[in-house]
Amino acid sequence: MRLAFAFSVYYYLMPRDVASLVDTLAEIVGPRHVRTALPERVTYAKDGLPTHRRVPGVVVLPGSRDEVIAVVRLLGALGMPFVPRGAGTGLSGGALADGDAVLIVLTRLNRILKIDARNRLAVVEPGVVNVRLSVAAAPHGLQYTPDPSSQTACTIGGNVAENAGGPHCLKYGVTATHVLALEVALADGRVVELGSPGGEPWGPDLVGLFVGSEGNFGVATRIAVRLLPVARAVRTLLADFTSLRTAGEAVSAVIASGIVPAALEMMDQSCIQAVEDSVYAAGYPRDAAAVLLAELDGAHEAAVAADAETIEAVLRAHGARSVLVAADAQQREKLWLGRKKAFGAMGRLSRDLVVQDAVVPRSTLPDVLETIARIAAEYGLTVSNVFHAGDGNLHPNISFDGRTPGLRERVEAASAEIMATCIAAGGTITGEHGIGLDKLRYMPLLFDGDSLAAMRAVRHVWDPEERVNPGKVVPVHACREWAGTRNAERGTRNESPDVRSDFRVPTSALET
Ligand SMILES: Cc1cc2nc3c(=O)[nH]c(=O)nc-3n(C[C@H](O)[C@H](O)[C@H](O)COP(=O)(O)OP(=O)(O)OC[C@H]3O[C@@H](n4cnc5c(N)ncnc54)[C@H](O)[C@@H]3O)c2cc1C
Repeated sequence: MRLAFAFSVYYYLMPRDVASLVDTLAEIVGPRHVRTALPERVTYAKDGLPTHRRVPGVVVLPGSRDEVIAVVRLLGALGMPFVPRGAGTGLSGGALADGDAVLIVLTRLNRILKIDARNRLAVVEPGVVNVRLSVAAAPHGLQYTPDPSSQTACTIGGNVAENAGGPHCLKYGVTATHVLALEVALADGRVVELGSPGGEPWGPDLVGLFVGSEGNFGVATRIAVRLLPVARAVRTLLADFTSLRTAGEAVSAVIASGIVPAALEMMDQSCIQAVEDSVYAAGYPRDAAAVLLAELDGAHEAAVAADAETIEAVLRAHGARSVLVAADAQQREKLWLGRKKAFGAMGRLSRDLVVQDAVVPRSTLPDVLETIARIAAEYGLTVSNVFHAGDGNLHPNISFDGRTPGLRERVEAASAEIMATCIAAGGTITGEHGIGLDKLRYMPLLFDGDSLAAMRAVRHVWDPEERVNPGKVVPVHACREWAGTRNAERGTRNESPDVRSDFRVPTSALET
């Protein structure tokens, strides 16, 4: 009753400003593409991580670059915070907006603007789904190589913001290696062009700075990327191990052989069993403690075949119980489907899944994996590992039912211990999923105050008022503690039925 009263007070105090903002946004993008009702906004309250939830004040879905720029200019004039969002598959709470911010969803900007086969590049809008670009480039014998396991859903804009990786980034490099140029709408609506599709321009690497900036520097409205030839020869190997430690040691042995596989992925027993129980069953041996999926590729059949033989011998010499070489493209696809859909398959284990992301030096993998198993046992949690082993990029996944009292806290505590373990091993707190909201609390474990201040100073060059994706990535120092800049540790609020009852807009700015 009191709650309803509070909402109605807001309703009668605020309607003109909010209606004015909503109407102006609707003029820009069309009324269908402005979402204000609570059930619509709640759809955008999470990304791929179940532990953070924020309900945005307004959701706007522009349909073109010009509309994005007009929306950003309007919000700039109003001094309002906003958050860019792609497909919302992120795993660090990066694409969430608070009740006083506008969420700009970019999925309608889904056009591939150009495929220039001669110069091996493509220009895309940010909402293009990753895998669509490779499908479109395939008739030219080309592909967009970064292949996050979410590639059938995530957008290239989101990949740029997170500097996404994927199994084949071991040999070919993560997203930063493949982005040539960007058009970016800055916080105040000015548009800048970074890099050049035709080659490296003179000056600092601003493309490199933007890639991985997690939506903190502006909205990428156009992206030029490198395309690479589809490999003519491929060999895929599945090696299984009776101990996790041996599998970890085999990873280092493969890299030490001097051959860099296109991909080198690991799955532990819990993950194998989840996959084998699912529709993605790939024929992984259920009793194995771990499997390694290795892929060799290149332009020459004989060279790739020779490399595959060497790697097979290395795997056998380092404890592989058996090594299967995929007989044909169909078997290869099946082996990869199991790996790429492993997160989905883990949905069978429990209602909620926290996917963690950390990097450790490869040589420490065996010890770190054992410590993670010990932490899981101590907290009574199921932790499954599926990860990019070749570059030491771990993904310990904790399955749990968030409805069980006290379990979320245990999951958080176990996650923190896992992160501390990775840092102590000489690693870092993210390889590809970003800091977002989720990892803010770990930043001071890795960086001192001066380093964090330097990061925020860089941010201020792009966004002096910290209006783009506020409260993410770099914590601030207050009351002797580092915390999110605005609201990182705050719970969800403003869950009123319609935006008109909870959304504050500076009136004067609207009238300009
Ligand atoms: C099953 C599963 C598997 C995954 N596997 C991988 C993997 O192998 N490798 C990997 O790297 N990640 C992986 N991810 C994580 C996620 O898919 C990636 O981080 C991806 O890059 C996010 O893209 P998105 O379009 O969903 O972005 P969102 O989640 O919508 O946004 C992510 C961040 O990007 C910002 N952003 C989005 N678009 C723009 C833009 N145009 N301009 C500026 N900022 C923008 C947002 O503000 C946010 O901070 C996986 C996720 C899932 C659910």
